[in-house]
Amino acid sequence: MNVLIVLAHPEPKSFNGALFDTAVRTLSAPGHAVVTSDLYRMRFNPVSDRHNFRTVKDPSFLKLQIEETYATECDAFVPEIETEIRKIEACDLMILQFPLWWFGLPAILKGWADRVLAMGRTYGYGNIYATGKFRGKRALLSLTTGGPAEAYRKGGFNGDIDAILRPIQRGILQFVGFDVLAPQIHYGPVRVSDAQRESWIADYARRLGAVAGETPIEVGEY
Ligand SMILES: Cc1cc2nc3c(=O)[nH]c(=O)nc-3n(C[C@H](O)[C@H](O)[C@H](O)COP(=O)(O)OP(=O)(O)OC[C@H]3O[C@@H](n4cnc5c(N)ncnc54)[C@H](O)[C@@H]3O)c2cc1C
Repeated sequence: MNVLIVLAHPEPKSFNGALFDTAVRTLSAPGHAVVTSDLYRMRFNPVSDRHNFRTVKDPSFLKLQIEETYATECDAFVPEIETEIRKIEACDLMILQFPLWWFGLPAILKGWADRVLAMGRTYGYGNIYATGKFRGKRALLSLTTGGPAEAYRKGGFNGDIDAILRPIQRGILQFVGFDVLAPQIHYGPVRVSDAQRESWIADYARRLGAVAGETPIEVGEY
């Protein structure tokens, strides 16, 4: 498989950093081609604006989706976006590794999605959901939380984690055509012992060892 792993955490020695390193190591070992986007290390700019484009159709009024379509036709994405789009186009499996921030993606990763998943090139004009451009590719969210697992059950004090992840799994990943694998969620890593965290890392590595044979999940519609 060609695998893309995107990391959104400011601290390489964090638990997210350890999960990222584990995924790179585990998936590279059997010969999968692994490429990464370590967004903080890249100092990826998450702000989507006219700087996404080398040239624009209408310099007097910025309409992002029109300019994205134009850039698709004219090959006019700036290199930092073009590179990321190509990484996605080339992958069979994409893993997004991040801490849950405000029930969602950290801004740097949300901005990566805002800028890189460009209309025309990655979706639109009949290519969404079941006819999405990225049909046949699979995506996996690997995330950590601050809250414990019981807080993220239906009726728990934060509520149903599947509902919290649906905007990402349905509204982003399935929208552009990915099949979604079960999310890898490590609840409250800061609350457990080193031994427990090490055991979680080993379990994740075992899972990734067999990820090529996994069946996608239903993420639920709205
Ligand atoms: C802006 C913001 C918003 C947030 N919103 C939410 C929210 O909506 N919901 C929620 O639940 N939480 C929220 N949080 C909390 C956040 O999700 C957690 O702090 C985060 O997920 C924990 O993961 P981490 O990688 O940062 O942990 P870290 O604190 O980096 O790691 C936990 C421990 O693991 C250790 N560790 C690192 N590597 C290894 C290894 N190889 N083996 C064993 N141990 C290791 C570290 O040393 C550390 O002691 C928010 C935090 C912020 C900053």
